[in-house]
Amino acid sequence: MSFNTLGLSEALLKAISKKGYTTPSPIQQKAIPPILEGKDILASAQTGTGKTAGFTLPLLQLLSQGQTLRHRPVRALVLTPTRELAAQVFENVKEYSVFLDLKSAVIFGGVNQNSQVNQLRQGVDILVATPGRLLDLNNQGLLSLTKIEILVLDEADRMLDMGFLRDIERIMKLMPSRRQNLMFSATFSHDIKKLAHGILHHPVQVEA
Ligand code: AMP
Repeated sequence: MSFNTLGLSEALLKAISKKGYTTPSPIQQKAIPPILEGKDILASAQTGTGKTAGFTLPLLQLLSQGQTLRHRPVRALVLTPTRELAAQVFENVKEYSVFLDLKSAVIFGGVNQNSQVNQLRQGVDILVATPGRLLDLNNQGLLSLTKIEILVLDEADRMLDMGFLRDIERIMKLMPSRRQNLMFSATFSHDIKKLAHGILHHPVQVEA
């Protein structure tokens, strides 16, 4: 199995080979094709399975195929439970998008917001964020989610464990209801299934 058969663009294949990957991991093999078809995904995947590339690569391809809007409003949002994970996902997004004309940014709490706000002002296609800071900047009128086309909930189980359910529900209300949703979780409790049911539309289920 090689990355060439997954339907990814030359720009992404070049970035993948720059990273030194030769074979897509199982979660990448299973998740990338349906995401490229525009489907919602419910993925069971632990850290270390290559899940980040599993959602980032197709997300970048979908965005690069779409239209770049004036002022570059955020079109894809990746929500993560912690700032460490946010920073890590952001690094991946940057690496995989080196040959694409897409801008990305990361926002999380615990640090001064000024540099994050400056980045947002310059226009951002892909935003990686933790829920609290995202809502905070939105409340201040510094960030709009009305043009979101793709939402990723990464480590959804940890988000619930950390008490982010209410924040997630608030964030959902700020986005257009017509969008593609990708949910990744290591475990599937009753609460996770309930959250998935409320957010995902006929999801394709994939397992690492
Ligand atoms: P993740 O599960 O997304 O945190 O990824 C775990 C690690 O696997 C990261 O260091 C990635 O850079 C690496 N990785 C992701 N996909 C591949 C792949 N197809 N081949 C080799 N390494 C990979």
